[in-house]
Amino acid sequence: MGKKYDLAVIGAGPAGYEAAIRAAQLHLSVALVENREPGGTCLNRGCIPTKTILHSAGLYRQTKQFDAIGLHAENVSCNFEVLMQRKDAVVRELRSGVEKLIQANRVDLFRGTGALSGPGEVSVTGGEGTEKIFADKILIATGSVPAKPKIPGSDLPNVVTSDDLLEGTGQCFRRLVIIGGGVIGAEFATAFRDLDCEVTVIEAMPRILPVMDREISQNLSMILKKRGVRIITNAKVEKISGERSLVCYFLEKDISQAVEADGILISVGRRPNTNGLFSGEFHVEMDRGRILTDEHFETSQKGLFAVGDVIGGIQLAHAASAQGIAAVEYMAGIVPTVHPEVIPSCVYTDPEIASVGLTADEAKNCGTEVKIGKFLMSANAKSLIELQERGFIKLVFDAKNEVLLGAQLMCARATDLVAELTQAIVNKMTAQQIVSVVRAHPTFSEGVTEAAADVI
Ligand code: FAD
Repeated sequence: MGKKYDLAVIGAGPAGYEAAIRAAQLHLSVALVENREPGGTCLNRGCIPTKTILHSAGLYRQTKQFDAIGLHAENVSCNFEVLMQRKDAVVRELRSGVEKLIQANRVDLFRGTGALSGPGEVSVTGGEGTEKIFADKILIATGSVPAKPKIPGSDLPNVVTSDDLLEGTGQCFRRLVIIGGGVIGAEFATAFRDLDCEVTVIEAMPRILPVMDREISQNLSMILKKRGVRIITNAKVEKISGERSLVCYFLEKDISQAVEADGILISVGRRPNTNGLFSGEFHVEMDRGRILTDEHFETSQKGLFAVGDVIGGIQLAHAASAQGIAAVEYMAGIVPTVHPEVIPSCVYTDPEIASVGLTADEAKNCGTEVKIGKFLMSANAKSLIELQERGFIKLVFDAKNEVLLGAQLMCARATDLVAELTQAIVNKMTAQQIVSVVRAHPTFSEGVTEAAADVI
């Protein structure tokens, strides 16, 4: 007979470990099952490694602008091996922090693969065989894995996913083709180009970052092209061939084209991970691989919940954590302390991009008339000081009462600035209330005042 818990969580990514810790703080007894490293995709092969690489790569590019700000540096070069070692060190340090938090909150961590063998029953298979855990409630937080379309040649050596590039030592391909110009593709294009690699992005849709505000994707496309990234849109990859040097064949406006590469990154999205999760007859309702839940994250099986990438929708670490916390607070019967319905999305290119709430097009499609407040960061002092003059802040207000509905930013520190706009949306703040707050000078945040003032 296995041990009995109030809650068993399968998957220790940002959804699972945050949920487990919150549940323990709410005095539930918690088992957490993980078959790889705690921290999940985000910490081990997602958010943290990409941003660490982007930081080094961005600084390296900036050294080339030193002359413009009165500095001089000679023989600056990049040691990719050391760069990747630092990435590993950052990941290790943060992972050890997560492990300590799990332990400090008295969450029992089971190392192995969890499978649902019946209501309230999880079997964990690890190095030492299979053991059973019983729990009143179960939370599935098994995340997602890179989607791999069936392109002939996609299993050739050096045709990789983000997992392959970010785990371990990776490879700095001198000629990199990126299939897919979404967020992950755009960030890798930025980093590898900053490291002086030849980068080609092939995107099936008419623009890169196709789900973002049109103006943002057009601007990013222009900036990346100016830095030397080749961007091909409306193109369909047909096959990959080659041995030492790869060739990627694609159709662009019905014309066959080819590009040579040392490495090809496939970044066409991620699919929910439910591999081996259900054993025997035990199942839940799913739609195209993602687990369906109600507004409290409960699945079609009572007492069985699911959060994070495995339920699809917006696949971001902070969305996953917020859902995990909301789900366990619901289980514990307390008033929710988070708002998982308003989620900022960020892209860590240079300039950074952030978006929250509705775009003007989305609001209009819902039949809401809008007023748009916009500020070009070329008139912001801090942006000029830091050679960051390109970019804008766009705020979307309900025309009827000037309540903030959404914000799209493309400027330095956009990923930090979006926090105050998320707060404004959650608290239904008006343009007047946003303007009434005094922001320090000179800061990028003054752009928020200016954008809101634009509608008043
Ligand atoms: P995961 O983080 O995938 O965690 C799931 C965990 O469950 C994994 O550790 C897995 O090993 C484990 N697991 C799976 N099945 C089982 C099983 N049967 N038994 C036991 N354990 C199991 N998001 C952001 O917010 N910001 C970013 O900057 C960002 N950058 C990204 C960059 C890249 C390259 C990628 C790939 C993703 C990025 N993301 C980013 C997305 C983010 O990583 C995910 O949204 C987030 O990790 C989802 O959290 P999760 O807990 O749902 O799943």
